Amino acid sequence: MGMEGQSREHHIVALSGGKDSTAMSLRLQEVEPRDYLYVCTPTGDELPDMVEHWKRLERVLGANIIQLRAKHDLNGWIEFWNALPNGRMRWCTRVLKIEPFQAFVKRKSLDGTVTVYVGLRGDEPKRRGSVYSVDVKQRFPMREWGWNVGDVWKYLSKKNIRIPKRTDCARCFFQRLGEWWETWNNHPAIYASAEKQEADTGFTFRRKDRDSQPTGLKELREKFESGYIPKILPHPQDDPGLQQQELFDEETRCRVCEL
Ligand code: SF4
Repeated sequence: MGMEGQSREHHIVALSGGKDSTAMSLRLQEVEPRDYLYVCTPTGDELPDMVEHWKRLERVLGANIIQLRAKHDLNGWIEFWNALPNGRMRWCTRVLKIEPFQAFVKRKSLDGTVTVYVGLRGDEPKRRGSVYSVDVKQRFPMREWGWNVGDVWKYLSKKNIRIPKRTDCARCFFQRLGEWWETWNNHPAIYASAEKQEADTGFTFRRKDRDSQPTGLKELREKFESGYIPKILPHPQDDPGLQQQELFDEETRCRVCEL
């Protein structure tokens, strides 16, 4: 019997590459093995560790991760609009992540049923899934398993998986002062291009109320060059104390990007 007239079942795993979606994707394969479509939405501004993590995850999953890309990457949109995204105008998440993902889900819904698997945990009940214009079933497997943040870290450690310290954009306006220092110190070319974008657009990536240090990246760089080193947090996988804290609360972090 052919496929004609049969409805297909699409099982789409939403992957950011962060700890939650990474753990969910690996555990799902163990407890509910099937042909999943693993999907991520790169912004083109990921740090090298993050790009490497997606490649490693493909090897461990034994499957391709479909990369959905918008018309422009983050820097292309900044140039196109001559504006920087910020907490009040967070167009980056919408155009680079939400819209491409929703369009993909919609396309899949045209020839079958769609189930989307999202890495929301039991200990973050305020977070909700997305709203779709088509009929989509959303599942939150970690909530079904009763997993909290500690379970996620424990599972990743058992599987010997190390998550990149930063899974967001290199120039994300949500980053802390210590992360800007690390961007400047470890990725000077990225810092310099972000500094140039501030000069070109007249906007800043930093919020005045985050800390008492200079808002502009140029002034901040000068301060770093003079020897100032802000507090640098360790990698959570090197510090069990940090693993119990949800460092990335909804106000100060891109939760879509942290899925
Ligand atoms: S990580 Fe930051 S800059 Fe990148 S899309 Fe998310 S909110 Fe925007």
